[in-house]
Amino acid sequence: SDTEEKKEDESSVRVAIRIRPQNAREKIDMCQVCTSLTDEARQVRLGQDKAFTFDHVFDMPTQQDSIYNSCVRQLIDGCFEGYNATVFAYGQTGSGKTYTMGTGFDSVLSAVTDEIGIIPRAVDHLFLGIEERRRQAFENGEPAPDFKVTAQFMELYNEEILDLLDTTRDPDSRGRKSHNRIHEDAGGGIYVVGVTTRPVASLEDTLQCLKSGALSRATASTNMNVQSSRSHAIFTLHIRQHRVVKDEGPPLDEGKDTDSTQTEFETLTAKFHFVDLAGSERLKRTGATGERAKEGISINCGLLALGNVISALGDKMKRGSHVPYRDSKLTRLLQDSLGGNSRTLMIACISPSDRDFMETLNTLKYANRAR
Ligand code: ADP
Ligand code: MG
Repeated sequence: SDTEEKKEDESSVRVAIRIRPQNAREKIDMCQVCTSLTDEARQVRLGQDKAFTFDHVFDMPTQQDSIYNSCVRQLIDGCFEGYNATVFAYGQTGSGKTYTMGTGFDSVLSAVTDEIGIIPRAVDHLFLGIEERRRQAFENGEPAPDFKVTAQFMELYNEEILDLLDTTRDPDSRGRKSHNRIHEDAGGGIYVVGVTTRPVASLEDTLQCLKSGALSRATASTNMNVQSSRSHAIFTLHIRQHRVVKDEGPPLDEGKDTDSTQTEFETLTAKFHFVDLAGSERLKRTGATGERAKEGISINCGLLALGNVISALGDKMKRGSHVPYRDSKLTRLLQDSLGGNSRTLMIACISPSDRDFMETLNTLKYANRAR
């Protein structure tokens, strides 16, 4: 419809649904597939009578590269023009968040290139883009643009920011006070003080960071699955570019005395956050009981706050009014990369199997609020 198209143009928040294939266990247990695509474009149906429309819907056989190419690639292109971006993977534990993002230790190592997730693809694209811009400058006889890229890898657990690239970190530091603090500068930029910032000059450098952080995350606890499903993992690239100003303005006034040898430079910065969120099943469980461990409550708070922030950003009527960034560390940390000129993609990951019906319905509702 007309209004829907308009919303798409204006909204800086996009929502994609990814349905993972059934796993061996689900097949052995003869689970039924309860998700399907309808004849309507970009619409997913759950069971018989529940249908939701999103910006993208990826059914079970969808490959990693087509997800990257259809909704993430343009966000890296935007970084070259100074636009911040954030990609989230949301969903219950086991729905494919880590597989999709590429934040798992084995997914970085993966020899099967088809299975590589979003982060390694984005990093590859970024460094190819840098090379390409240097080559173009050389061909045009211009000074080469200068790029500085740095990486950070953090985990948010229990409203504490843990530094996954800190090699001196006590592997049992979860649950203790960390010294990393969120700061906002005069221009509204958000920085985490105290967290390791690694300069990276190539795909290999960056994957090394990703790998060591993923390893640190996996070995930080005795019960890795439980722990990692309760924390948010945030991999961030900072891209700083110093380049010749592109002369796309109106032609200079005739007769005006300009020095043609004078080259003007500009510095552009962009941030790209890749967020592998905590399992969304915690939302429901913590909501049900009221009196809960501190841990459960704070994870709940991050996902709830994120839902509220994204919903406020997506709702044009609410725009300009209060966006509740300060309700959690997660939304505070991402404040300057959500809304405004930033581009945000939420990938809601779901299981196709009937036994996950209620969790899938919760995920679709959460994602639907974001639209
Ligand atoms: P989450 O991070 O949401 O808990 P994972 O990404 O760890 O879930 O996925 C759970 C399991 O399912 C993993 O073994 C993963 O390799 C597999 N998996 C998830 N999504 C897909 C997919 N689209 N294609 C193939 N395997 C997948
Ligand atoms: Mg995971």
